[in-house]
Amino acid sequence: MENLLLIRYGEIYLKGLNRPYFLRALLSRVREAVRPLGGQVWLRDARLFVQGVSDMDACIERVTKVFGVHSVCPAVRLPKEDFEAVCAQAAEMMKGMTGTFKVEARRSDKRYPLDSPEINAKMGGYILRSVPGLRVDVHQPDHLLNVEIRDEAYLYVKVIPAAGGMPVGTGGKAALLLSGGIDSPVAGYMIAKRGVELCAVHFYSYPYTSERAKEKVLDLARILSASCCGLKVYVVPFTDIQLKIHEKCADDYTTLIMRRYMMRIAERIAKAEGAEALITGESIGQVASQTMTALQMTNMVVSLPVYRPLIGFDKIEIIRYAEKIGTYETSCLPYEDCCTIFTPKHPATHPKLDKILESEARLDEEALIEEAVKNVEIIQC
Ligand code: ATP
Ligand code: MG
Repeated sequence: MENLLLIRYGEIYLKGLNRPYFLRALLSRVREAVRPLGGQVWLRDARLFVQGVSDMDACIERVTKVFGVHSVCPAVRLPKEDFEAVCAQAAEMMKGMTGTFKVEARRSDKRYPLDSPEINAKMGGYILRSVPGLRVDVHQPDHLLNVEIRDEAYLYVKVIPAAGGMPVGTGGKAALLLSGGIDSPVAGYMIAKRGVELCAVHFYSYPYTSERAKEKVLDLARILSASCCGLKVYVVPFTDIQLKIHEKCADDYTTLIMRRYMMRIAERIAKAEGAEALITGESIGQVASQTMTALQMTNMVVSLPVYRPLIGFDKIEIIRYAEKIGTYETSCLPYEDCCTIFTPKHPATHPKLDKILESEARLDEEALIEEAVKNVEIIQC
């Protein structure tokens, strides 16, 4: 008898002929997550398994964050041939439990002498006889004993829900515009969850924004990195561009022009990284630069698609999501973002393109972008 972690995957199950490709990716991502704890990870017959790690709780915490994993179950493995012994082990695992239970058998070994209903009935009877205080309830049991008959027999009671989604790397690559706010880490998480590998681009305006503000963004990147399998952050110096915009452009257009510059620079970095899209945490109407007209004006300066997964979310919904993924507390630390300095009193909510272009014509776009890109700092989180 051995203890191990049984890992169940979710949506990959729906894949047809290319399921092996997704499973190989999932196996790699789980191996990367488990590596610091030692042990072996393998894939067999629609399940992944982990055994021999130095710290099982830490292992569970890491694996539940891997996209593509639906749930993890601390399990016991034993030879399937002696069904009586499997039942005895099941009863042992249920010892001390009270209330109601149900046995749920899955038999992927179709040559096993007992079929699933027979396993349920016999094992249920055995547990009933051996563990006083337990009753059967097949509709709403307090405890569910899972028994899977595969190469061997696997038993587990506890099912710990995991992140879900698709393995990172199976959905291409995108560049996330990452601020220190609440929204953009959530936006990045949602896209990475669909299997997209991320890199992040952060704009900072030292000394108007502090070193601590930058550290906060890197802290957010580290939190995301646990699910994203590492996150490379491009930190772009933005002070000169902001000062020039402030000095030369129409006051009510400065925020929008600044956002257009962010998009242009992020696109350059994205293309150099082989990314196919940009991601932002914008949602319609949240602030003046996020009206539909303003969003159209920011889209205009890039050729890559811009994905905004929060576009229809209320702030309160975004906050709930941020709490769930563990970024909210860090996002709330009170350090300024480059968006919040130099904000005009009355930013244009219905910007006109000719006015934007008139202001932008006063700037040496190529020189400003080149200078910023040249001084980018790359940090692996
Ligand atoms: P959050 O900052 O959490 O995204 P917000 O309401 O502050 O929310 P804005 O400041 O208007 O949003 O920014 C909109 C989007 O622009 C952000 O979601 C982010 O994708 C991008 N962005 C804003 N500031 C920066 C920055 N300093 N570096 C990189 N991207 C940024
Ligand atoms: Mg922000």
